[in-house]
Amino acid sequence: MNKINIAGAGLAGLSAAISIAEAGFSCNLISLQPSERAQSVLAEGGINAALNTMGEGDTPEEHFQDTMKGGAFLADPNAVEGLAYTAPEIIEKLLAIGTPLQMDGKDVVLRNFGGQKKKRTAYAKSSTGKVIMTALIDEGRKYESSGRITRYPHHQVLEILSEDRICRGLKILDTYTDEVQYLSGPVIIACGGLNGFFPEFTTGTVANTGDLAAELFSEGVEFANLEFIQYHPTTVAIPGKRMLISEAARGEGGRLFIERSGEKWYFMEELYPELGNLMPRDVISREMTRVLARDDCKGPVCLDMTGISKKTWEKKLSDLREEIREYLSIDPAKKPVSVYPGIHFFMGGIRVDEGHKTSMENLFAAGECACQYHGANRLGGNSMLGAIYGGRIAAQSAMKLEHENYEEKPSYHISAEEKQELYVSPKSAAALKGILADSLGIIRTGNDLNKGIERIDNLLKDNNLTAMEKKRILLGKAMILSALAREESRGAHFREDYPETDEAYRKTTVSRMGDGIEIYFRDIPERRESHEIQN
Ligand SMILES: Cc1cc2nc3c(=O)[nH]c(=O)nc-3n(C[C@H](O)[C@H](O)[C@H](O)COP(=O)(O)OP(=O)(O)OC[C@H]3O[C@@H](n4cnc5c(N)ncnc54)[C@H](O)[C@@H]3O)c2cc1C
Repeated sequence: MNKINIAGAGLAGLSAAISIAEAGFSCNLISLQPSERAQSVLAEGGINAALNTMGEGDTPEEHFQDTMKGGAFLADPNAVEGLAYTAPEIIEKLLAIGTPLQMDGKDVVLRNFGGQKKKRTAYAKSSTGKVIMTALIDEGRKYESSGRITRYPHHQVLEILSEDRICRGLKILDTYTDEVQYLSGPVIIACGGLNGFFPEFTTGTVANTGDLAAELFSEGVEFANLEFIQYHPTTVAIPGKRMLISEAARGEGGRLFIERSGEKWYFMEELYPELGNLMPRDVISREMTRVLARDDCKGPVCLDMTGISKKTWEKKLSDLREEIREYLSIDPAKKPVSVYPGIHFFMGGIRVDEGHKTSMENLFAAGECACQYHGANRLGGNSMLGAIYGGRIAAQSAMKLEHENYEEKPSYHISAEEKQELYVSPKSAAALKGILADSLGIIRTGNDLNKGIERIDNLLKDNNLTAMEKKRILLGKAMILSALAREESRGAHFREDYPETDEAYRKTTVSRMGDGIEIYFRDIPERRESHEIQN
């Protein structure tokens, strides 16, 4: 029987691999970089679960409701229900494999995170991703030694092998030796978000190039909600990328202000008295853009963390303070830090159903590359959870398949011509980024989006584009077309020409490569009455 192939070894890929190995199946775990270098390691502030250890009466149902509301009701409620109700068990499992989350005796300590009224975010200072990944990598090693997980680190997944719209396996390139290999069997894609489309503008790693997503799009795999890009309000430009100042800083008392008529104006607290600085990220990013444009205000917007107690800095945020001192030469306990919204998360991606099946048979997707759980906007702390839970669900679906035995083709050394077609020049990457950034900003207009499409069509006229450059540009075009098709404002998608939310658009935007790029809308499933949670 063929092994299940997993493309990507961050939280989603590792979670899928461990679920497969625990169930007695075997898998190949393929990744461009080893797990230790996946973006998941960068995750800072925490992971959500309604553990109710802080005496606030929190429940999974409230976690479900907050996630649906945060996502402006675009997520599949049945999938979100599975996520929220399984979260406490996922934390228990992470503890059982030795993840050092912040504890108070036997209880997990929870912190506040945006868009949620109750403390629900488990953490390890500001290095939550690192400690969870370390524990999962170690857990995976147990199964590597027994042969249930076979690692292919430093391997690039080039394409999906398919026949009659059924996925039969993968083609991979050893980036050290240039050997191309074929691996047969079902495939779970866990290749992370589209950060590589936004070099310098994103807090994520551009090692997640987005090339595999572009390849799948060109194969006709459906993508969903590509217009929804999360801008994190508190990022700082450093060479090559944006540094994140975790939402935990605001969760622990950090306050945003701008100078208005010579005085500090804590605008979020005045405009949103209930949640203030902990409003969802899209709302804060938009308000920052608006106050910066006001005549009576003088930028930049600053994050004031000077009121955070010494004990909180030491116990909960010492690594964040260290990072800010190191990169910005500012002690945030003494001086406010200038912050700007930056691209942080992609709510859209490969369209999957509740079982994480894509539109292609035998092909699954999980983690940030997939569109599930977050709707029009993601709540902080929900993506690590979504990656772990989604990886598990995708694995369960893949294990239910009747596995056939496909023959594996012989390997070969990649030719210079084939390699050239995979190349993406810095010039082409920069041109695409410029267009996407101009069109898909925090505040969008039909005019800007149409201009973006015109510019993309001009880029596509270049006869010297490599195959990969062309595929990336086409996926970029689908992002802009999705934003143009959604003539309303919802979650992270704000149209100045359609500022209201329109119930008629409470649908998933689907994009697919047919003869050209097709954009259409799909209904959101209703919540089932009797809840059968998959886990
Ligand atoms: C700075 C920062 C802080 C964050 N903080 C939080 C937080 O506090 N809480 C939270 O919930 N979320 C947080 N997030 C988001 C969260 O980290 C991610 O959404 C999540 O970790 C994504 O996991 P993943 O497994 O989908 O992808 P990743 O961890 O990005 O892994 C992708 C994998 O795919 C591989 N890959 C990519 N392309 C290919 C290819 N062509 N061939 C082979 N392999 C490939 C990569 O090598 C990697 O192994 C944060 C993100 C950032 C950037």
